[in-house]
Formats: sequence, C-alpha cells, structure tokens
Amino acid sequence: MIELAEARGFVLARCVGAEAVVVPIDEALDCVIAESIRSVEQVPPFANTAMDGFAVRAADTLGADDRPVSLRIVGTVRAGMSGLDTPVGVGDAARIMTGAPLPPGADAVVMVERTELAVDGSTVLVRSEVPVGNHVRPSGDDIEPGDLVLEAGTVLTAAHLGVLATVGMARVSVIPRPRVGVISTGDELVDDGSPLGPGQIRDSNRLTLRSLVRSSGFEAIDLGLVRDDESAIEAALLAGVERCDALVTTGGVSMGDFDFIKVVLDRIGEMRWMQIAIKPAKPLAFGTITRSSDGVAVPVFGLPGNPVSSMVSFELFCRPGLRQMSGINANFLDRPSVMALADEPLQRRVDGKTHFARVWCHYDTETATYRVRSSGAQGSHHMASMAAANALAVLPDGATIQAGTAVRVLLLAP
Ligand code: AMP
Ligand code: MG
Repeated sequence: MIELAEARGFVLARCVGAEAVVVPIDEALDCVIAESIRSVEQVPPFANTAMDGFAVRAADTLGADDRPVSLRIVGTVRAGMSGLDTPVGVGDAARIMTGAPLPPGADAVVMVERTELAVDGSTVLVRSEVPVGNHVRPSGDDIEPGDLVLEAGTVLTAAHLGVLATVGMARVSVIPRPRVGVISTGDELVDDGSPLGPGQIRDSNRLTLRSLVRSSGFEAIDLGLVRDDESAIEAALLAGVERCDALVTTGGVSMGDFDFIKVVLDRIGEMRWMQIAIKPAKPLAFGTITRSSDGVAVPVFGLPGNPVSSMVSFELFCRPGLRQMSGINANFLDRPSVMALADEPLQRRVDGKTHFARVWCHYDTETATYRVRSSGAQGSHHMASMAAANALAVLPDGATIQAGTAVRVLLLAP
C-alpha cells in the first residue's frame, strides 16, 4: 500500500491545466478566468441618485429640520434621461428617480419621504436639512478606469460575471471546463430499468459520477455501460479520449479475474495501479492515454466499483485533478475542511489505513463548534449512509475515535 499523499501527487502531476479560450461571458460561469481584467470604464459612469426624491442644492435646505423650506419644482429626471434640460438653480428642486443623473446645479438629494408636495404640484416642502452629496452616488464611486476588477485564476461566480458585465466586457478568456466522460463496467449491471435477473444489480455509479462531475462544475458526458470484455473496454477508452478531456471509469480495478480496466489501461496507456492506504477506495488505476488526433495525454481515473468507494475516490482524486485541469490554484483543489467534535464514538480498528467515515456534520451555535455523528453503516456498498452524509471524517490509523475527540472533516455540502 502507498500513502494517500503519494497517490494524489502522482495523479495531480498528470492533470495539466488546459489552454485558455475566449468565450462570451454568458458561458463563463464556474470557469477560471485566464486574464486579469482592468476596467476601461468608470462605474457609475455619472453621478446619480440612490433614492427617489428631489435633487436640490444642499445650501437651500439649511435649517429645514426646524423650519421646512419650500422649493420650486423645475421638472422631473427619470432613469435613462441625461438631466441636462433640468438645471437646478437657487431655490429649485427637480423630482428625481433612483438611478437618474444628478441634474446640473444640484448637489444633494432629499428622499421623497422627507418632503411634501404642494397641492398644485408646483412646489415641494423639504423637511430635512441635507449635506452636500446626500444620497448621491458619485461617478467612479465603485470602479475607476484602470482598477483591477478581476485577477487571473479567479473562479467566476455570479457576482464576477456581474462585474464583467458592468464594465462592458462581453467576452473573456477562460480555462475551459473539462469535458469528462463517464463509463461504468460490469457484467452484472443493468442500466435500463428492466427487472433484475439472477446475479444482476443496477448501475448506480454512472449516474452518481456524472452528477458529481456536473455538481463540481465540469461537463459530464455519458459514455455508457461496458461489459467485462477486454476489447469492448479498449474500444470504449480509445473512443472516449478522442471526445473528452478526462475519463472516469468504475469497476474492474481490483484483484478479480475479470477486472480488465487496469489491464487495458496498462496496455494502451501509461498507467499506475495503486493500492492506497485508505478505506474505502483502496484500489485506483490512474493513467493517461495519448489522444491520436493531437497527442494530448488524457487522464483516465479507474475508480473502484463499490458505490461508496467510487464516490470517495472521486472526492480524493478526480475532483482535485479536474479542478487543477480547469486552472484552479493548488490551494483550492480540495473540499473545505473543519475540525469537528465527535458526538459519539466513530468505529474503526488498526489496519494501516486512513478511514473516510460518512458523517453528518452540523455547527452547534451554542458551543460554537462543529459536531459530527456517523450517518450509518460504513461498508463500501452502503449507499444509504453516503446519501445521509454531508461530510467525510478523516480518521487516522488507530482505534475507534472516542466521543468528544476532535477530527478533521471534509465538507461535501455547503
Ligand atoms: P468491481 O470493482 O468491478 O470489482 O466491483 C466492486 C463491487 O461494486 C461489486 O459488488 C460490483 O457489483 C459493484 N459495482 C460495480 N460497478 C457498479 C455500478 N456501476 N453500480 C453499482 N455497483 C457497482
Ligand atoms: Mg466488476
């Protein structure tokens, strides 16, 4: 058995970041931006009002807290107007709506709640004294030309795309999201909903892994179910690397007589078959197959077939590897982790392995600590407890973790 760190190092060294491409910002969500962006525009582009109310000269409101002042209404400035036709002179006020430009002469806004319109609508009574700049958003208040608005390497969120749209960027250079092909293997698997025959089970891994690929921000491509047959597996892998940036397979990497993934991967690619000191997910066949069309070494993750093993293996190897391929910084490849107190004993025994126990983790606001309890049976085929878990507790080799002990926990869900 090798240590987890060694296996991860081997995998990550072969998950190389892709070349940047220019895409419309509408397609850039979750992608890593490949260029730093400096604004060429000023935001806001003009001084405008943050409130509906009246644009005034602040000096005209002096003393209005004690004795309301009456101002002459010279017009209305709506959002989208220039405001130039509605200059505000001494003793004047212009009706103004949120987002509208401050008309010439005005230097403050009185919110509508602090005013009272005369019956004939020709004047307004202002009940507040306001300082210069009151409720005014000056031009360039948010972003000035030349400001760095996004740094290369940032994973683009909704807010980042909003900033790009704000400064007028229509297209942006990003590292494309890897297209990840998912293949399940096994003669026992049924994937069409038909009744199970003797010895058959349903193919759950393929859907689960495609979903993990998608929820991790990558593109999932269903490459189907392949039988435990060397030539069928070879054909599937070779076709897969032509279409995809990475492949994820399940099954066929253990010690069994019909575990052909590792055999084929070894023959047609550069492969390392690893027995890793972890539980679940001990075996991993990881390698690269050279794509014939362009010579790119496409990573292939041969995950174990047991459902929980395949998910844990995805978390420990695929997700970080694929994140690295999509340009994410080495410090952010893994799920966030916290230290949590065990609410109950977390069972294990000495076996030379680090265990990844399925747990439910919650934040206890009274004691300001994270707490965990087992989410159920911990066999590598026990999917119900995986579904009931929101975290994996990292249990170092040793005996059962006693209640009250602090353990590191990888948070799988927000
Ligand atoms: P293997 O890694 O091929 O030896 O499979 C290990 C265990 O996982 C066996 O019990 C398989 O039946 C089961 N298994 C393999 N592939 C899948 C799959 N796609 N969905 C659900 N169970 C699977
Ligand atoms: Mg199998």
